[in-house]
Amino acid sequence: MLIVQKFGGTSVGSLERIEKVSERVLKSVAEGHKVVVVVSAMSGETNKLISYAKHFSDSPTESEMDTLLSSGERVTSALLSIALNAKGQKATSLSGRGAGIVTDSNHTKARIESIDPKPIRSAIEDGNVVVVAGFQGIDEKSGRVTTLGRGGSDLSAVALAGAIEADLCEIYTDVDGIYTTDPRIEPKAKKLEVISYDEMLEMASLGAKVLQSRSVEMAKKLNVNLVTRSSFNENEGTLITNEDKIVEKPLVSGIALDKNQARVGLIGVVDRPGIASDIFKALADANINVDMIVQTVGHGNSDSEDLTNVAFTVSRDELESAKNCILKFKANNELQDIEVNDNIVKVSIVGVGMKSHTGVASKAFSTMANERINIMMISTSEIKVSMIIEEKYSELAVRSLHSAYELDK
Ligand code: ADP
Ligand code: ASP
Ligand code: MG
Repeated sequence: MLIVQKFGGTSVGSLERIEKVSERVLKSVAEGHKVVVVVSAMSGETNKLISYAKHFSDSPTESEMDTLLSSGERVTSALLSIALNAKGQKATSLSGRGAGIVTDSNHTKARIESIDPKPIRSAIEDGNVVVVAGFQGIDEKSGRVTTLGRGGSDLSAVALAGAIEADLCEIYTDVDGIYTTDPRIEPKAKKLEVISYDEMLEMASLGAKVLQSRSVEMAKKLNVNLVTRSSFNENEGTLITNEDKIVEKPLVSGIALDKNQARVGLIGVVDRPGIASDIFKALADANINVDMIVQTVGHGNSDSEDLTNVAFTVSRDELESAKNCILKFKANNELQDIEVNDNIVKVSIVGVGMKSHTGVASKAFSTMANERINIMMISTSEIKVSMIIEEKYSELAVRSLHSAYELDK
């Protein structure tokens, strides 16, 4: 088989761990597989580099950040290749550019535009294990390195697996697979044998950082056979696949928690046609990703016009820019006040079974009620229910939902 194996930060977190990874790769080679490895930076390295940049500037240019951050993955790719060579296995490391990964010029969250499979294919034909630095590509227009967003090595692995038509893409991490919820929050969480792309996509976008959400999107699009498993043991992992390949569909598959949430409340917004469009266009033009939106019913409490309240959520790192965006509307007297809150989290339940069953959402609400947790915002889709609650209730909410849907059974 042709296998892409991705090793995350903890899995390559020390020289001893890199040594273990090299042994694991050799084992796959000995079993007769052709292996392309994708590596993350050693754990903590990307955050350390970010803090180094912040030492000099609050707003370093994004292209310099990419040059800086991409270095972490290059270090591990070269080290792993050196370790493999030292063990008598021919290996070569490739940067994102070397691996033919071309992206747009959207630095720090670039999208992959194309991958040329030739460099990797020819290195494999020469008998190499190919070790690719994850998380990065090249913007051909400027010739500069780009990065694919936090957790982006998952995306590198899946995209490469698609491009070289690998039989399997294995994501090696520090947990045995995908659990019903983050096992660090709920030790009773159970490992799932299989989960559909759509459920995994929801889980990942809703805060389960075990897989980067764009990598799941890509896996679904390219039909990549994706498995998440531990680099610390030989246990079977979790298969992420098409819904129709899953025989037994649970009502709820998992609970996700996203702590990177903030809410912006706009109070006394002039209720005229076009106001929502103006507000959200301004946010979109500033490249700010808005998640949930709630508008309350206007109540005509002003002399000449109706006023309404609007609230929306963004990720915490975009709160400041979102607020700056909205200040314009206050200056123009189109709203009375702005209220920001970053002590909130989003807790979500995910499951394809919801499509065909009623009462799933109401159980989530009654579970919150029993714990006396106030729900501040709600949003739903076919296969998920998300609730914004106060941050201090995060763990309580996750655990009580986990037990309400009997996920620990
Ligand atoms: P890596 O460095 O290998 O990319 P990450 O730290 O990005 O690893 O992701 C693994 C972590 O994801 C786990 O340690 C776990 O705490 C967390 N996690 C969150 N939700 C889940 C879930 N539903 N199943 C498994 N792990 C989860
Ligand atoms: N090193 C990058 C990060 O920490 C990418 C990755 O590990 O996937 O976000
Ligand atoms: Mg990760």
